[in-house]
Amino acid sequence: MKHLSIRLKITLWFAAILTFMVVLTFAVIFSVGGSVMQKVIQDNLINIIENNVDEVEFFPSMNKVENDNDADHYIEYHGGYLEVDDDYLDLVNGVSTSLYLENGMLLYGHNPIAKDTAGHAFSDGQMQMVPVNGVTYYLYDKMLTQEGLDGLWLRGVVSEEQGTAQLSSIVRLSLYGLPLLLTFAVLGGYLIAGRTLKPIRDIEEAAVHIGRGQDLKKRIELSPGTDELHQLANTFNEMFTRLDASFESERQFTSDVSHELRTPVSVILAQCEYSLEQVRTPKEYEAALQLIQRQSGKMSRLIEDMLHFVRLEQKSDHFHMEELDFSALVSSVCNDMALLKEHGIQLTSEIEERTKVVGSREQLSRLLSNLVSNAYRYGRENGTIRVTLKSEGSNAVLSVSDNGIGIAPEQQEKIFHRFYQVDASRTGTGTGLGLSMVQEIARLHGGAVSVESTLGRGSCFTFKMNDLIDFRLSL
Ligand code: ADP
Repeated sequence: MKHLSIRLKITLWFAAILTFMVVLTFAVIFSVGGSVMQKVIQDNLINIIENNVDEVEFFPSMNKVENDNDADHYIEYHGGYLEVDDDYLDLVNGVSTSLYLENGMLLYGHNPIAKDTAGHAFSDGQMQMVPVNGVTYYLYDKMLTQEGLDGLWLRGVVSEEQGTAQLSSIVRLSLYGLPLLLTFAVLGGYLIAGRTLKPIRDIEEAAVHIGRGQDLKKRIELSPGTDELHQLANTFNEMFTRLDASFESERQFTSDVSHELRTPVSVILAQCEYSLEQVRTPKEYEAALQLIQRQSGKMSRLIEDMLHFVRLEQKSDHFHMEELDFSALVSSVCNDMALLKEHGIQLTSEIEERTKVVGSREQLSRLLSNLVSNAYRYGRENGTIRVTLKSEGSNAVLSVSDNGIGIAPEQQEKIFHRFYQVDASRTGTGTGLGLSMVQEIARLHGGAVSVESTLGRGSCFTFKMNDLIDFRLSL
């Protein structure tokens, strides 16, 4: 049983229940069917006789008869007429009804055992059983009591074989019908189970395919639908998309990193080879060492930035999130960085007081110092940097603007990509990771960073952070 497919298990279970029900039905039919049928034909007999009682009427003369129907039957009786209505049921469902005088004379109707019951006394409202030639008949008499009908009786007769005949036709129908129905139900169940479980097979196939071929681009393709299995397939597809994106970004990151590290390593190796080729002058050694120092410094910054970045992406740092005075933090970073005064640039700030947020002190400082460093790096000689912090509704809005070289519109999206630099020769100590790190920190704080810039006139980077409660929920 363990090795059977779900489809087969469901079908077998279904078939077993149905077979049990069919067997039970047969058992019921055979055990109580006979007595039920006898009861049914007796009730039927009583009903027909009771119904016929109202179909006989007495009229003192023919003039009084409301001749509304040619099919009515008239019998002379006691100087008047008996009208037997056309609704009178004289032979229906094997039940014969006949109209008798009290002395046993048959006036109207049909009685298959008239001769055998000729001397059988009438008994009002009593079910009697009369054996005739080995067959039992049910006899039911009813005395007519309406005006003018004294001395008249209705006698109903039905053979018990009528019940047996009905029962045997039910049994015959069941014998062919139920197994046929059972076969249809099981076949239908098997097909429906197969169709219902198809998405599971598709999911399994996709999982096996991905597992074997590492092809995370594959998706589970199902016909349109919204049932549980479709939802499951959608969840899997979303998971594959996320996994694919994260593997892809990891692949890209590894390739970017090796690419970025290759240049300084090659320069250092080439410089070492050059210096060791032959004896050089002290000045040449000094120049070589300075170059090696610059390239090593670049590598060191790159490795440090990468480590920060990877930790940030994997959240492996588990930043210490706290409710903090963002105004104080921004003000402290500005004070420190204003001292740099690189290229004669002046840093000024406008900070709304007591702007509180929940966040990581360390990461938010890194975000701001990255933006301010860039503003210095790409700022104009003796230019300005302006840092502002204000609250807008439930958002804290931090912006860093400069009047530096600016960024062309087509570059403005790309600068947030890892290692992207508009002009590598201008970046000096830059690694191309600063803005992507800013964007990641913003994302982790439930916020976003955007840029507005005009080439040759300057740039303004804005970090918007969601309100405290939303932010807490997104952690
Ligand atoms: P980098 O280490 O090169 O500064 P970033 O990720 O911080 O790397 O920035 C990516 C690129 O975006 C930079 O190389 C630079 O071309 C551009 N950029 C960033 N900030 C500014 C700015 N304030 N003004 C002009 N260009 C900028």
